[in-house]
Amino acid sequence: MGFDDVLGNSRVRKVLRLALQKGRVPNSLLFTGPEGVGKKSLALVLAKAINCLKRHDDACDECAACRAIEAGRFPDVQEIKPEGQIIKVERVREMRQLAYLRPMAGEKRVFIITEAEKLSDASANTLLKILEEPPFFSQFILITHNPDLILSTIKSRCQILPFVPISKAEIAGALEEKGYPEDRARIIALYVGGNFGEALDLEWEEIQEKRREAWTIFRSFLKNEEPASFLRNYGFVRRSIVRDDLEKTLKIMASFCRDLILVKEKGDPGLLLNPDFAGDIRTLENGWSLEQCWRCLGRIDAAISGLNRYMNMSLIISAFYSLLGEDTYDRDRLSRF
Ligand SMILES: [Zn+2]
Repeated sequence: MGFDDVLGNSRVRKVLRLALQKGRVPNSLLFTGPEGVGKKSLALVLAKAINCLKRHDDACDECAACRAIEAGRFPDVQEIKPEGQIIKVERVREMRQLAYLRPMAGEKRVFIITEAEKLSDASANTLLKILEEPPFFSQFILITHNPDLILSTIKSRCQILPFVPISKAEIAGALEEKGYPEDRARIIALYVGGNFGEALDLEWEEIQEKRREAWTIFRSFLKNEEPASFLRNYGFVRRSIVRDDLEKTLKIMASFCRDLILVKEKGDPGLLLNPDFAGDIRTLENGWSLEQCWRCLGRIDAAISGLNRYMNMSLIISAFYSLLGEDTYDRDRLSRF
């Protein structure tokens, strides 16, 4: 895998290649961004590119160094990761000893510190001392999805490269290249919200079950049925553990709502996000007006952005219902929940 084989984040890839071409890769890098967007893959490509025997600004994937790094058996490339909930200070001390020894086989020693937010206080302080005077033949790549938990003194010693979620089109395209049928690739891309790692891990049946559940909830909104099961699942019982789950459900509901709008506006059926639900969606065509559909979509988007800002789950759900309630529910009945 070389720079061109990593999905998304073309800006980060460009920055790293330019730095390699100029021979000026900063000693300490911090890759930040959501999970599943290729931070570790890119760290490995960089480790290969630095030590590649054939190329100087990319991995050739053919030379002995590239192949050994890919297989995880190159002595100068090491990963430091948490054991349980923390990265132990012993691991960082071992890294310090190695970091000041010249590389055994390659151009540079590369240390990839994954889940760097889990450095214990002692580990972080030991790492800070290394980063204050890094040996020129050692390269440090810290990876985290939560830079707020990294000491500011460590951050200030690193060049920070922020990664962004991968676009739906890129994920769908990559899945199709791997042999997924087009419809399925598009649905998975919609479901994972920019996390390609999750797209590869997901079981199709798991997604289908979630979609069926979201469909039942969406349909119950339009048919003015009891919202009890939705609230029982998400509003007041399980709370934080279901935050991600709720976000996914809402995103799928939004996709059904978009499809319903498309159907009502007599749009091109080829543009349906859920083509396999086309028949079901058509049965709801005469329910809400277009205006009500757009308002529902707006509410779903607002609830998703509330979740992303870590608003209280019950508040989000209540706001969601009270606004939908203007169309479909009477407040007396809602007050029972
Ligand atoms: Zn190579």
